[in-house]
Amino acid sequence: MPPAKLYMFLQAKANYLPMHNSKKDFIIPVFIPHAGCPHQCVFCNQNTVTGWGKSIPSHEDLSDIIESFLDFKGKNRNRVQIGFYGGNFLGLETGIIRRLLFTASKYVADGLVDSIRFSTRPDTINDNKLDLLENFPVETIELGVQSMNNSVLMLSKRGHTYFDTINAVYMLKKRNYEIGLQMMIGLPGDDESISLATAHSISALCPDFVRIYPTLVLAGSPLAVLYKQGKYKPLSIEQGVSISKKIYLAFKEHNIKVIRMGLQATDDLKEGTSVIAGPYHPAFGHLVYSEIFFDNIFHVLKSGHSDFKNIIIKVHPKSISMLRGLKNKNIQKIKELFSLKSVEVIPDISLLRDEVKTEFTDRV
Ligand code: SF4
Repeated sequence: MPPAKLYMFLQAKANYLPMHNSKKDFIIPVFIPHAGCPHQCVFCNQNTVTGWGKSIPSHEDLSDIIESFLDFKGKNRNRVQIGFYGGNFLGLETGIIRRLLFTASKYVADGLVDSIRFSTRPDTINDNKLDLLENFPVETIELGVQSMNNSVLMLSKRGHTYFDTINAVYMLKKRNYEIGLQMMIGLPGDDESISLATAHSISALCPDFVRIYPTLVLAGSPLAVLYKQGKYKPLSIEQGVSISKKIYLAFKEHNIKVIRMGLQATDDLKEGTSVIAGPYHPAFGHLVYSEIFFDNIFHVLKSGHSDFKNIIIKVHPKSISMLRGLKNKNIQKIKELFSLKSVEVIPDISLLRDEVKTEFTDRV
């Protein structure tokens, strides 16, 4: 099917989620680092010779992992899923895919888990692999898209093109999977406008959710060599936050949920991995949301309310620290910029997690 027709099909099949569903999924993470991946992307620090495929849990180990998490699933959550992460799931041998799904499926059949999810490369999606999944309760598939620019994909040594992603999403939508797309910023050859164009191309594919990851220079990766040779310049933390903010807002405009911004040391980085350079911050997403909140309040005050000296800002209780910013930075900046006497922050459960309401209490 030509790309234009594919896009039209994908948009007709759009299945939007509300922004910030209040209850989160409880995901039982099963990490299979680099398993099923014979590639060597420039930013990845996998050891293709010694590491490939050694991290796949046995039936017993997988059962132990799942059961160790089940006790903690609680009640105040959305669905429970077993998630295979960190590798190229559909790149595994067919027998291994079947074995892992078979073990996980038993927990779904027993009513302890709702469904299964995994992440994989766009170029591993084909009819044979998808036929294989038909007998298992797989609900969500995430694709490592990284960029929708072929030159960036080539410089990043991804080994696939943007068309593989369009095609993969088309095939997944036809079979009604929930789809998550992961993109990266700051890749070799990338810049702000290319990243934004990627975000717009991804939005046109109407995924159910996205993740945004800044490129980091990891020890042992080919990118570390380029960095040391002065051939790659990583984004600063400020640039990473600013670009992520614009991308988040682009996705928000299309009502596409952003479920993660930035890598988490515990979940996404292999134990012992060191970050040589790049926009790493343990609370990267928090920094992005803080800038968004700051911009919102700044624009309200700038657009005609600057004669008030006391303001009340209402925000969802779970977003208070993001509104305040690290070390209360946002509040201090707002106070100084607009010579305010007081800024009161009040929790309001009726608001969305990324929404603020402002009230002004007096006039000078
Ligand atoms: S990033 Fe993913 S696809 Fe690339 S080398 Fe690492 S595991 Fe393989």
